[in-house]
Amino acid sequence: MKLAHNKNEVRQIVSDWRKQDMRVALVPTMGALHEGHISLIQQARQNSDHVVVSIFVNPTQFGPGEDFEHYPRQLNKDVELCRKEGVSLVFAPDQKEMYGHNGHKKGFISFAISEMNENLCGAARPGHFEGVLQVVNKLFQIVRPDVAIFGQKDIQQWFIIRQLVEETDQPVEILMAPTVREKDGLAQSSRNVYLTPTERKKAPLLFESLQRFSAELSENVQQITNKKDIIPVDKTRMDAEIKHLKDNGFDVEYFLTVSTPDLQASDVIIPGRLYIVAVAARLGSTRLIDNVLLNTNRLPAS
Ligand code: AMP
Repeated sequence: MKLAHNKNEVRQIVSDWRKQDMRVALVPTMGALHEGHISLIQQARQNSDHVVVSIFVNPTQFGPGEDFEHYPRQLNKDVELCRKEGVSLVFAPDQKEMYGHNGHKKGFISFAISEMNENLCGAARPGHFEGVLQVVNKLFQIVRPDVAIFGQKDIQQWFIIRQLVEETDQPVEILMAPTVREKDGLAQSSRNVYLTPTERKKAPLLFESLQRFSAELSENVQQITNKKDIIPVDKTRMDAEIKHLKDNGFDVEYFLTVSTPDLQASDVIIPGRLYIVAVAARLGSTRLIDNVLLNTNRLPAS
C-alpha cells in the first residue's frame, strides 16, 4: 500500500493503473476510521481493482463554531487499518496541498446547490454541502475514479454528490453503502467519541425513534387497498417522537420525512416512491444524525 500526501503523486500512481486497464474506486473520508468506513472500503474492493482512500478533514465544510479543531485525527492508525483492508493508496493531503496558499478559504468559485440543500443538514449547516462539493469535486479531479462509495448515513450528501456528477458529466459511478451500527443501533460515527458515558447510553434512542416512526408509516402504506391512495405523514406521531427525544435530553434539530431525489419535506407518501425519514439532534455537545429509507414498495407505483 502506498501513502501519498501530494496530488501529483496520486495522479501518477492512478495513471499507471489506468494504463493497465485497472478499475479505480475512491472512498473519501475525514479519517478516524471505524467499521462504517471499513464497509465502504470493502464495497469499493468488490467494485474495482484498486481502492484509493482519501483522508482529509476538510475545513470548508465546517461552519463557524463547529468542531473542526477538535475533530479526531489519527492518521497512523487509519493508514494501518487501510493496509489491513487491502487499500492500494491512501491520499492524505494537508490544507495547503488541497487549497494552496489560501489555506482554508472557500475559493473564488463555488457550487450553488438548489432545493436539495433547503432541508435537513443543508438548512441546519449553512455552507456545509458547498464545502463538501468543493472537496469531493477536487478529489474526483485528482483521482478520476471509476466508482466512488459514500455512506447512507450521510444521505443528503449522497444525493447531492450524485447530482454533482450527473450535472457536471463526470464519468464516476456513485454507490451507496448501508449504515453500519453499533450493537445497540447507534450509527457508527467518528463523532461518537465525544459522547460521555451517560450520553452514549441514551444515543440509541435516536435510531429507535426513527425506526418506530418509519415502521408505522410503512405499515400504513401497506394497509391501503387502492393503489392511488396517498398516505398522510402523521405529524402528531412525529411530534410525539420529537418530544420523547427531548424528554431524554436530545436537542432535536430536525425530524423530517423527505421525498427523493429532490429532498423536499413531504406531508404525504405516494406508494412506490422512495422517501427518507431523517433526524439530527444534539446530545450535549455532540451532533448526531441518522436516517432510514422508507419502504413504500409493497404496492407497485401507480
Ligand atoms: P466521514 O469520514 O464521516 O466524512 O465519512 C466518510 C464516509 O463514510 C461518508 O461517505 C460517510 O457517509 C460514510 N460513513 C460514515 N459513517 C458511516 C456508517 N456508520 N456507516 C456507513 N457509512 C458511513
